[in-house]
Amino acid sequence: MNRKLGYFPLALGAVLLVAPLSMVPFQDGPGGVVRLLVMAAFGALFAWAGFEAVTGREDRRRSGGELAAVFRSLDGERVSALARGLARIGTAGLDRLAGEVAGSRFAELLADAGFACEKCGREGPVHRADYTEVKGWLLYVETRSFRGFLCGGCSRELFSEFTAATAVRGWLGVKSLLLTLIALPVNGISRMRAPGPLDPEAEPPRLTGELLRRLEPEAPVLAARLGKGQTLPSVARAAAAKTGVSPGRIGLYVLALAAAGEGAGAATDRGGGTGGGAGARR
Ligand SMILES: [Zn+2]
Repeated sequence: MNRKLGYFPLALGAVLLVAPLSMVPFQDGPGGVVRLLVMAAFGALFAWAGFEAVTGREDRRRSGGELAAVFRSLDGERVSALARGLARIGTAGLDRLAGEVAGSRFAELLADAGFACEKCGREGPVHRADYTEVKGWLLYVETRSFRGFLCGGCSRELFSEFTAATAVRGWLGVKSLLLTLIALPVNGISRMRAPGPLDPEAEPPRLTGELLRRLEPEAPVLAARLGKGQTLPSVARAAAAKTGVSPGRIGLYVLALAAAGEGAGAATDRGGGTGGGAGARR
């Protein structure tokens, strides 16, 4: 559940709880008091559902901070040296590097930055999706959320999966009913914002030896722009327009540079450390 959306039932519930209770002393008969107490009980339920949504644990941790830390470790001269190194490593070296670069960690970082679909990993038009599944168990409620970048096809799939489960099971509980009433329209809005399906030829961003050589002159430019605080997506888009290489591949190139720099800096890193980005924050 989108955290911010929880404030709505929380506020509504608080009003529905406090307003009837404050009117109880002015009631003449027991009938009026009972009606007000029932209203207050509904208010408490709403407030509870909202509170859970607001304070609930996120299913996924965004690693945007991690991504930023990787880039901050880059500086101009070092990047030029790294770029020359990468351009020279040859096919065998690239295969080893590409294996690590294409590992799940980088795939996730690329998806977090909106370069590729978080589910299928392919590059192309993606959108920030927000889907919630609600399953009721009478008094208990089970929710599952997805928030991240998805391509049109994967977005549609996840929408169907989450929404179908919610439509069937969301009503089977008091609290889940309230969450369902929020989740269904939010899922629908997210689905409407999905782009069209990806080109069938679309692939996950990959580096090749030819690309490493072609991008080498761009490395200092990329580092300088990132150093000035520009975001990776905007830097990659600018470089893509200039070089004709896709933004996702440029993003991957920057990650490869950062990882190679870390590997060179931390020789103790196991396996030579081209994939040591995770250590950047610690
Ligand atoms: Zn996808």
